[in-house]
Amino acid sequence: MSELQENLVSIRGRIERACERSGRHPDSVRLMAVSKNQPPSRVSEAAAEGLTLFGENRIQEAKVKIPQCPGRLEWHFIGHLQSNKARDAVGLFHVVQGVDSLALAEELQKQAAKQARTLPILLEVNVAGESSKFGWHPDRLLAEFLQLNALSRLEVHGLMTIAPYAVDPERVRPVFRRLREVRDRCADLLGAPLPVLSMGMSGDLEVAIEEGATLVRVGTALFGERPRRTEPDEAPAE
Ligand SMILES: *Cc1c(COP(=O)(O)O)cnc(C)c1O
Repeated sequence: MSELQENLVSIRGRIERACERSGRHPDSVRLMAVSKNQPPSRVSEAAAEGLTLFGENRIQEAKVKIPQCPGRLEWHFIGHLQSNKARDAVGLFHVVQGVDSLALAEELQKQAAKQARTLPILLEVNVAGESSKFGWHPDRLLAEFLQLNALSRLEVHGLMTIAPYAVDPERVRPVFRRLREVRDRCADLLGAPLPVLSMGMSGDLEVAIEEGATLVRVGTALFGERPRRTEPDEAPAE
């Protein structure tokens, strides 16, 4: 078995066990391969193992990489998006996760209309209130949620968060739980389900699944340590 195959077996096992512990079906959790900083060859290798969902966090990198990757993959943008890159994002990605302001949502709406498509989005919540991270404060999101949802070219599918780094993943359980609670309140406002909860990464995916994650974003545990980036274009999003 290749290293990637071994990693994948291990990640799937972790997902299954977490689902079992929380009485969930393993199919209720999608695995995203976070391919940032990885060359197209590694994406192809992962695609050959049956992975179909990939995440990138820089537009410049994605613009070059996505056309070199196998077709029929689903690409999500998972970084911080500047409004002046909204046009590229709408052209390149199936889903934009991490929409973090009404102004950005309005720009995406405009670009989606120009490109004659609807754009599924996830709203990023800064649950822990870290100043180094992007995303809505939960109260502000609840106040603006119906305005966001009224943008006709955008489909709000759910919420995402990037939890603070912690050596012990149990410490971030309250963050994941809070995201689920905010999601439930948004769904109440909407009067409809808001199915997607994108939370959990290599180090804390079990806890995220136990708290309701439907999509986990995994980079390091799948591909190994990320190669460093070579061209300094945008400010790092992590
Ligand atoms: C890099 C990144 C990940 C993956 O992190 P790992 O710890 O390598 O699994 C997940 N989500 C976002 C938004 C990221 O930027």
